[in-house]
Amino acid sequence: MLRVADHAARTDTGRARSANEDSYWVRSPLFVLADGMGGAQAGEVASKTAVDVFADQGGLPDGPGTYEERLAGLVAAANSQVHERAQSDDQFAGMGTTLTVAYVGEDDLAIAHVGDSRFYVLRDGQLSQLTDDHSLVGELVRRGQISAEEAEDHPQRSIITRALGIEGEVVVDHFSWPVRDGDVFLLCSDGLTGMVPDPRVAELIATSPDLSTAATRLIAAANEAGGRDNITVILFRVEEVTPGEGAVVGGSGGQETMAGATAPSTAEVRAASAAGAGATATQQSRTPDDPRSVVGASTVEARAPRPPRHPRHDAAPKRKRRWAPFAKGFAVIAVLLVLIASGGWIATRSVYFVGTDDDGFVTLYTGLPYSLPILKLYSTEFTSGVPAQELSPQVQRTVTEHKLRSHDDAVDLIRQLEQGTLAGQNAS
Ligand code: MN
Repeated sequence: MLRVADHAARTDTGRARSANEDSYWVRSPLFVLADGMGGAQAGEVASKTAVDVFADQGGLPDGPGTYEERLAGLVAAANSQVHERAQSDDQFAGMGTTLTVAYVGEDDLAIAHVGDSRFYVLRDGQLSQLTDDHSLVGELVRRGQISAEEAEDHPQRSIITRALGIEGEVVVDHFSWPVRDGDVFLLCSDGLTGMVPDPRVAELIATSPDLSTAATRLIAAANEAGGRDNITVILFRVEEVTPGEGAVVGGSGGQETMAGATAPSTAEVRAASAAGAGATATQQSRTPDDPRSVVGASTVEARAPRPPRHPRHDAAPKRKRRWAPFAKGFAVIAVLLVLIASGGWIATRSVYFVGTDDDGFVTLYTGLPYSLPILKLYSTEFTSGVPAQELSPQVQRTVTEHKLRSHDDAVDLIRQLEQGTLAGQNAS
């Protein structure tokens, strides 16, 4: 049977943001991480609301179904809570969050996942990502349209195609993973993976004396690389123990470290039946607004080789297709249309870019810098008093390249332009 031998978790605001919108909750053998998004404090509220669904239960409640189904049920319940809160309070409108949870059972590891936070296994020094990123670039990589390297600094890498709270229902990826003695697992927000390349992450974990040190070093590495986003890491190592031995070891380490050994309280039993309703919603694994079931099912290219896993929503057979070169532009439009038709459109509204308006003034836009024949994918947030013409060529490029930015990032840039404090700002 499996046992969590060691675990560690850390979160950090990073160097660029004023608040930490990530949340996590750990009670071994259950590990929960959420990365919230939305204006003001909405991102924090979204991630905290999602994580609290697990914290309020004090663990994974007993109930019908496998571990992964019960995890997915709770993720669906968390989606409803975030969604209701976003609907009922204007100040939280449009908020959303990623949510990735892992539970070490007696024989294997169960995972449920929505969004672009990541779950990795480190085995024999090799770091492998077990979850799919539910992001625009993640979809493009899976379709073979861009490479993993191109995705790393792609201007649209912050667009999420699936998140909790955007719609009343969400498709939850869930699967079980066959653990091997000594496997180390990493759950992290994109504030780590956007800053530190995978091989460096693997190296930092492998060369640390313990997981607590490794967690500290990962956060430090992300900050050294710029710390542009909030950073959260959860690490745990799993061992195989014989049941008798496990009971003894569990006694010294406390019940919390014993996989699957948490006794259900009355509250947990009650919660389990409540979660049952959510589980039903997720098992209906294809909804019309799941981008992957609309476009993905027939057009997904073969995935990069990866260890065995069994995501439920991927059960339908895939046809292999190759895109003719001319089809690529069309594919981008198709992806955008699917985004609009799905919650992804709402998610894109939490991205921003800086451009110029018709009169040449630097302007903050929300949305994507594209126009389709029938639809503009952006709207004006505000126009500054800065004429682009008066800027140096280098800075003019910055305001015309339409790079996607977070709200804070974009506002920062415009504020600096208004105050004349951006390096090399003025022409001549
Ligand atoms: Mn993030």
